[in-house]
Amino acid sequence: MESMRALYFTEHGGLDKLAYGDLPAPALTAGMVRVATRAAALNRLDLFVVSGLPGVQLTLPHVPGSDGAGVVEAISGNVARFKVGEPVILNPLLSCGQCEFCLAGQHSLCVKVKILGEHASGTYAGLFVAPEGNLLPLPAGRTFEEGAAFSLVYQTAWRMLTTRSRLRAGEDVLIHGIGSGVSVAALQIAKLAGARVFVTSSSDEKIAKARALGADFGFNYAAVDVAAEVLRETGKRGVDVVVDSVGAATWMTSLKAVRRGGRIVTCGATTGPNPEAGIHMTFWKQIEILGSTMSSHSEYQDVARLFASGRLTPVVDRVFPLSEGREALEYLKAGKQFGKVVLRVGEQGTAGTAGTEGT
Ligand SMILES: [Zn+2]
Repeated sequence: MESMRALYFTEHGGLDKLAYGDLPAPALTAGMVRVATRAAALNRLDLFVVSGLPGVQLTLPHVPGSDGAGVVEAISGNVARFKVGEPVILNPLLSCGQCEFCLAGQHSLCVKVKILGEHASGTYAGLFVAPEGNLLPLPAGRTFEEGAAFSLVYQTAWRMLTTRSRLRAGEDVLIHGIGSGVSVAALQIAKLAGARVFVTSSSDEKIAKARALGADFGFNYAAVDVAAEVLRETGKRGVDVVVDSVGAATWMTSLKAVRRGGRIVTCGATTGPNPEAGIHMTFWKQIEILGSTMSSHSEYQDVARLFASGRLTPVVDRVFPLSEGREALEYLKAGKQFGKVVLRVGEQGTAGTAGTEGT
């Protein structure tokens, strides 16, 4: 049996459960493409996958990793869009294609929605298998590291800001906890949309990096009252949109900092899911609370075009070899990064001869 190098676990627990070694290569089934991984990017989701998510039963051993880029290694007989040797990027959102939401083009609402790496074997290995429809050609001039860093957080931030919160040029956006992959993507997308952006962090260094990417205001939440600062800078009005992926620690600040009739969009709750609700503020200020997760295929292709044309470039904080994947996840868990943490897998190099833009 073919084997591959992989980062995997055989029981749930802490990151010490992760092992690096050989596993059987994933089987190629109908409609699927097998990709020789060149780079994979980390997400906080990985930490929850290793520790175990309620209601998610995995076949063990499990390979985590939801973001990846590589070269097509094998295709099943009925795959027409890709050729062996072609560099590709992965959209990790797996949807059934048949439920009412898939048929309406709302793939992230799919009743059987899954994420590769969370529910199915992931990208922290020499090979991964994905449905043909989940791959796009790696755009010319883009590296595998950038391709791996792109998919999950840029599609998430894109849906949050464009479809869900309907951000328009000239609006004010507050983004909590700048430095995480999704917050940096949100900053770049909000600037591209012509918004004025406020960011927060407990690190002056991260605020400086965000300012270099175009953030208009940066507040150190360890030193100042963020809501008071936002109200001061906006003439007591508040921001039009708040991007909150932090949860318990920031929710009340979001309610205070958003303008009357404004929108708060959430895609996560890294500090906990059950803050004080502030229902009185929600109705009195007529706030819209919007949930968002991943994106539809068409939203993914929209944001992938901006990646291909160079208008959005993922910020890669640090690259580790796959063999040091556990150290990379410890680094992510410590929260010191600004942008994406990436694993280098197998053979290296940029794909100078990548194919045309995604279909
Ligand atoms: Zn579906």
